Amino acid sequence: MNPATLNEIIDYSRKNQVGIGMFNIVNLEFARAIFDAAQETNLPVMLGMPERFLQFYDVDSMTQACKAMIKNSKVPVSIHLDHGKHFEGVMTALHAGFSSVMFDGSSLDYEENVAQTAEIVKIAHAMGVSVEGELGYVGRSGIDAVTEDGFTKPEQAQDFVARTGVDALAVAIGNQHGQYKGVPKLDFDRLRAIRKVVDCGLVLHGGSGIQDKDFVEAIKCGVNKVNIYTAMDTAAKQFNNEHFSEYGAYLDYTKDLTEVVKNVVKDHMLLFGMKRAY
Ligand SMILES: [Zn+2]
Repeated sequence: MNPATLNEIIDYSRKNQVGIGMFNIVNLEFARAIFDAAQETNLPVMLGMPERFLQFYDVDSMTQACKAMIKNSKVPVSIHLDHGKHFEGVMTALHAGFSSVMFDGSSLDYEENVAQTAEIVKIAHAMGVSVEGELGYVGRSGIDAVTEDGFTKPEQAQDFVARTGVDALAVAIGNQHGQYKGVPKLDFDRLRAIRKVVDCGLVLHGGSGIQDKDFVEAIKCGVNKVNIYTAMDTAAKQFNNEHFSEYGAYLDYTKDLTEVVKNVVKDHMLLFGMKRAY
């Protein structure tokens, strides 16, 4: 099959009342691990490439490799640009053949975020590609302080979605990127209020470290897509630190590391897909 758009992923989420995971690709082994997790759990998945990762690999080769995998997929799989911060980054992704892009204008002032996101939506939609926007400031753990000031405001979310035409909206409700200090507390009342006033998909970023029951609650409140990266990165580093020296051949190590990453992805997919206990 062809790569799925974000809209197809959101449709699946709505029809089946499940959340869909988006997992970021570090290298081809990560892509393989995420793809295999989707085949083994029989759930759709999103292969993510953050704009800031694109300096580490050739985006065209990586996209072609993902497309070749997706040809043989039995479940919908999309190729998604995560945190496109610049017009050029989004254009690079569209040119490479991504089926879904995020434009993150959350650090811009509101009117500038609306204007730039609307421009991206116009271009992406003309190419049959869905767009995720961000409103409110998710930030990064240990760098930004989480304050309600940065949380997504429901009335503003309604205005933003209407004026930009985004297919999905990333919200800030107490979630943060990176490793949390302590247990994050999500503002579910706010999430429900946003869900009531917007029709598009809702996205929860900064997923690693949120408690299982909170993920499930967020999905029940209307979150369609959950972004995961730090959990995979942490598991890969830990495996490396504890086991690398046990291997004679790098090939064997790589094979096992891919398995470790796949299991982290599967575990999250099954939780979001309401297929495992929590
Ligand atoms: Zn994010």
